[in-house]
Amino acid sequence: MPYAEDPKQSKNNFILDPKIKLLRHYNRIKGITSGDFSPPVMVEVDVVEGYCNLDCAWCSQAKSRALKKRTYMKTETMIRLGSFSRSWGIKSWRIATDSEPTLHKNLDVLFQAGHENGIDMGLTTNGVLLDRLKNLQYLTWLGISLDATQAETWSRTKRSPKKNFFRILDNIRKIKDKSPDLDVTIKYHKWSSNGNFMAKNDFYPNFSQHSTNRKFGSENHDESVRENISESSELPELASELGVNYVLRDAFPIDFHKQYKFSKCFSTPLSGVFGADHRFHLCCDARNVFVLTDDYTRNDWEELPSLWGTKKHKALIESIEPQKCLGCSKFKLCSVLENVVMNGNYTEDYQVNFI
Ligand code: SF4
Ligand code: SF4
Repeated sequence: MPYAEDPKQSKNNFILDPKIKLLRHYNRIKGITSGDFSPPVMVEVDVVEGYCNLDCAWCSQAKSRALKKRTYMKTETMIRLGSFSRSWGIKSWRIATDSEPTLHKNLDVLFQAGHENGIDMGLTTNGVLLDRLKNLQYLTWLGISLDATQAETWSRTKRSPKKNFFRILDNIRKIKDKSPDLDVTIKYHKWSSNGNFMAKNDFYPNFSQHSTNRKFGSENHDESVRENISESSELPELASELGVNYVLRDAFPIDFHKQYKFSKCFSTPLSGVFGADHRFHLCCDARNVFVLTDDYTRNDWEELPSLWGTKKHKALIESIEPQKCLGCSKFKLCSVLENVVMNGNYTEDYQVNFI
């Protein structure tokens, strides 16, 4: 229950509904409605593409990775991304990628560039290689996708030796010792091969039609039952023992796209993805599908600002059919923009004039 509705709750327990954050950027929202787009608020930075050191059963990016060759963002690109982002008006970077960002040996260079240019930064990682990183104090938050409380489950669902589970826990303890004020959250994606949940091979079903020159091999379906749901109740205790926050989420159901309450994608002008290979993607959930430019560094980095908000950009957004995006993590944002900010098919459900 929100704080305002329960005055007995302490302020520390008051959690803002994340959608309220949109108010902070009302000029950008206005730009979406008027067609006069402002630069994105937050971008993803893909420092590594085409390679992960784990193989999670539910990975929404496995197919995206399979279509790419292994690429590491160049050091000079990471350095320039800091000053470019500041001058264009980007506020934050989510360093996540469709691979594992800590596999980039010079990730510290990106942290430094963001720090020097006043960019808020968050890192999402599987945590195995966190002990390699320096400069973690420059981050605003650190999210670790742990997805298990027992080494056996972790190892089975991610196809990696159990010792790596203990390495992650050890890394978290050391980080909390060294940077006690860093906002560290362990994430847990509840999934079962027996449930009605999307698995890695279910994402990007129409991918081949977007990519003419590379093909998937036959999919390796694992027939053995794997799941992490039964031990998810142990997560709060583990988080407390480690001194970190936690987030527990259900995996996307297989028919999730049929439940969307939006029919257009209005959210992409608020974000985007800087690829390691210099491509700029409109959406992190549809990497390689909606590519605005194949080289954002072209013309001394003028390429992206010169394309942003043009007919080409708007036509690309218009081509998005949300029903074909089978795991839209921005479904709430898209629903709010279409039905609350604008008039959509579901606006009446929200009783928007009662505040
Ligand atoms: S660690 Fe992340 S990117 Fe790698 S396989 Fe797992 S979910 Fe996918
Ligand atoms: S509908 Fe969702 S997944 Fe598809 S491009 Fe838009 S934000 Fe991305």
